[in-house]
Amino acid sequence: MQIGILGGGQLAMMMAESAGKKYDIEFIVVDPTNNPPASKYARCIKAEYTDSKALKLLAEECDIATIDFENVSSSALKHLEKYIPVFPNSKSVEICQDRLSEKTLFVENNIPTTKFCPIDCENDLKNAIKEFGPDSILKSRRLGYDGKNQIIINNKTSKNIWNDIGCVPSILEEKVDFLTEVSLIGVKLQSGETYFYPLVENFHRDGILSYSIAPYENLELQKQAETIHKQITKLINYVGVLVIEFFINKDSQLLANEMAPRVHNSGHWTIQGTNISQFEAHIRAISGMSIENIQTNGHAAMINLISKMPKKDELNLDANTYFYDYGKNEREKRKLGHITIIDSNAQKLYERLNSLKKIIT
Ligand code: AMP
Repeated sequence: MQIGILGGGQLAMMMAESAGKKYDIEFIVVDPTNNPPASKYARCIKAEYTDSKALKLLAEECDIATIDFENVSSSALKHLEKYIPVFPNSKSVEICQDRLSEKTLFVENNIPTTKFCPIDCENDLKNAIKEFGPDSILKSRRLGYDGKNQIIINNKTSKNIWNDIGCVPSILEEKVDFLTEVSLIGVKLQSGETYFYPLVENFHRDGILSYSIAPYENLELQKQAETIHKQITKLINYVGVLVIEFFINKDSQLLANEMAPRVHNSGHWTIQGTNISQFEAHIRAISGMSIENIQTNGHAAMINLISKMPKKDELNLDANTYFYDYGKNEREKRKLGHITIIDSNAQKLYERLNSLKKIIT
């Protein structure tokens, strides 16, 4: 079998690594950069995602296609869909690419989310700030990830903020005074069944995921998050891994923040922390295979290595600590690698996490 992936970053790399040899699957990735991380395990076509020759090659040589990056043009996915099955489908990706469509989907289906308002011009912004107050955030509708294209209002003028966001369609969102943030990773099979990982607790710095701890044990919230996930995958006819990020507010209620129509950074720990990683589960789901019940191997934590790679030898890593270097050039706010820690004892896991955090972040 051959699987095409639009995007050749670390997520594509881990998909190809986890499933390539094991299931005799060949991966072809399309990526506009030189030697993206996935080139370690996959054949790479250096091209824009919309390049007609690259898409023709995927359509001719691959059985199915998927993505490692949700901001690929949906026209590319729609084009591919004429020839081969694409998971997730272009409609799902389109919804997740646009914060307004995503939030509208939540609201129309009674899924609690943050209070928001669409902004199309400076005047909209001025009026919305009057209503929401300075404790709110302007986010561009598109191309917002890792804290990009987000501005906290505070006491800035609407004119400055509108210019800073680039005068593009946006949403203004109430700032949530949350207890914590969690994500739910679920995988929906072609047969319609869905399997879930336990909720993961996520800690961000400057809008970028800094570290995650799993499992976040709260049976009631787990059940609620799973119900929301099933509701959404049914609505958008989804197959594969879908991740929903939530805030837990001060009343311990889930508020849906955003979705990722792909494997997710908060699920890297599943490689060593469970019997089937999110990467393998996604590939099995989109290839029409079944999966076993998901089981965790104790407690896990994942720390992102951002902007600068630490020297592995100086970290004193033990046998249950796994170091990943994506082979990227260092750049401010770029995710370059990660470390996963596994421990059967939660207290010991926190101690190891804290000592690593002191060195890394
Ligand atoms: P996002 O791209 O929407 O996931 O935002 C990245 C991170 O910024 C979130 O994970 C939060 O830590 C923070 N953030 C985003 N929106 C809000 C909000 N409405 N209230 C509080 N924090 C937020």
